[in-house]
Amino acid sequence: MRPLIAGNWKMNGLTASSAALAHALRQGIGDLAPEMLVCPPATQIAAVATILDGSGIRVGGQDCHAQTQGAHTGEISAAMLMDVGASYVILGHSERRADQGETDALVRAKTEAAVAAGLIPIVCVGETEAQRLAGDHEAVVGAQIAGSLPPDFAGVIAYEPIWAIGTGRVPTIGDIASMHAFIRAQLVSLHPNGGGLRILYGGSVKPGNAAEILAVPDVGGALVGGASLVVDDFLAIARAA
Ligand code: PEP
Repeated sequence: MRPLIAGNWKMNGLTASSAALAHALRQGIGDLAPEMLVCPPATQIAAVATILDGSGIRVGGQDCHAQTQGAHTGEISAAMLMDVGASYVILGHSERRADQGETDALVRAKTEAAVAAGLIPIVCVGETEAQRLAGDHEAVVGAQIAGSLPPDFAGVIAYEPIWAIGTGRVPTIGDIASMHAFIRAQLVSLHPNGGGLRILYGGSVKPGNAAEILAVPDVGGALVGGASLVVDDFLAIARAA
């Protein structure tokens, strides 16, 4: 399976800057081998999807609601994301788990809603620094996987140690390898197709460390935050894959 290089633009981008970023990616992509995805803020998905149409770069959302429609002021359903050109959605990002109090059960419900609407979910898991220092990282991530994924899960997992997000700090290659092997084993034991699911690494992926991280067994791509807002950096990470 081709690696997936996914950019999470988070809450960054107005009309002009998002369009400029999308146009620059379209111009720069060439014949890059990995599958490429950008996840702009919801207000920019339609415009970015139009700019990237036919480029091979796919577009995704950063969240969706667990319900299909109704009285949920301010929320966006999975079908709404599909409707404006998204094919993926990031779910259970640590920033949402922390800021919005999203639980594993809610992430699972959103994952089911995303799949039902035809989106590919990217479900994020990862431990805090305190949990890693206490040696609890596998127990934490194992519980997140067990609680956040429906039994017939057919999507992407993103392992993102919370202490590595936006900090410039990354786990050792050995620690990334060991956690990805652990996640693979969990997926295989819980899901019939667990051996074939992509597991992304996320957390301070940059052009300078991408090749080494992406060469780790069971790392099937990267979820990139800050560096996805810099065209040259995002393309360099894709080239490293
Ligand atoms: C993220 O938020 O998903 C992320 C990986 O961010 P960064 O690359 O900036 O660490």
